[in-house]
Amino acid sequence: MIANPLAEIRDAILQRQRFVITSHARPDGDAIGSQLAMAYALRELGKDVQIVDKDPPPPQFQSLPGIRDIQVSPTVHGQFDAAIVMECGDLSRTGVDGFDRYFVINIDHHPGNRNFGAINWFDPARAACGEMVFDVIEALGVTLTPDIATHVYVAVLTDTGGFHFSHITPRTFEICRRCTEAGAQPETIARAIYDNSTMGRLRLMGAVLHDLEFEGNGRAAFAALTLKLLQDTGATHEDSDGLINIPLSVKEIQAVAFFKEIEPEHFRISMRSKGDVDVNRVANAFGGGGHKNAAGCSLYGPYAEVRRRLVDELTRALV
Ligand code: 5GP
Ligand code: MN
Repeated sequence: MIANPLAEIRDAILQRQRFVITSHARPDGDAIGSQLAMAYALRELGKDVQIVDKDPPPPQFQSLPGIRDIQVSPTVHGQFDAAIVMECGDLSRTGVDGFDRYFVINIDHHPGNRNFGAINWFDPARAACGEMVFDVIEALGVTLTPDIATHVYVAVLTDTGGFHFSHITPRTFEICRRCTEAGAQPETIARAIYDNSTMGRLRLMGAVLHDLEFEGNGRAAFAALTLKLLQDTGATHEDSDGLINIPLSVKEIQAVAFFKEIEPEHFRISMRSKGDVDVNRVANAFGGGGHKNAAGCSLYGPYAEVRRRLVDELTRALV
């Protein structure tokens, strides 16, 4: 028998009543859009749905319908017939304890997914988990409402970097077409997500870009957000979201690494690249992960040392 995870997920959902939905810690647009689209669709079927996440949604998503439905908690309690875990390579990515007690439906597009669920649908060729959620909703026979359509669109828009990244297919646009037809409003959504910035963020951008460094004959850029810079600019870590993409707008630059100091000698590293430069492999070398063109990891130690280790690995990845 050829396994058909989509049909298995459809049947598992139709046979159950009480669902808890989650995604990864520090949720991004795909995590939030996928969860809310799924929640709204299941409610159309009369199901009971709760969303439990480790961290709250970032500010640019606050205007989304249903955003206040997201409960923020380090643990999940309660009686549920299934947990739908999206965007997570393994259960620990949720950052929430207790999901292992439930019947887990795992839906993800990150390379290296560990197949941790009772049902696993993993498709690394997808541009966004939201595309897969759209397919689930279609398989369930739920008619797209404006709220469902808006959340799927948010997932696809953000995870493709505004239709910039790899894995965009005709199906991606077909899904966006269907969402727009059902009431998603591209301009309103794009303005809310991309043109909703703060003065702190503008100042932070100036300071970080001023200190940008280059390696690999100018093909790799390195940016740092130290605790001192946060203090000097009065900005928050969230204010640096999206900043990493700016150096990539330069033709010659193939890869960017952004060091964020979370606490003294603890750096979260975000990486972005173009084309064949594989930053997922760089992240893997330090115990992190992600996708070929967008990945992350953590490193510990003084900045100079952490930077040298990452520079060595990243310049090797330049093609
Ligand atoms: P970001 O730079 O936006 O935090 O992450 C980029 C991509 O890499 C996302 O798909 C994210 O899920 C993944 N990622 C970031 N940090 C980690 C990590 O520490 N471990 C794993 N497995 N993936 C990560
Ligand atoms: Mn995603």
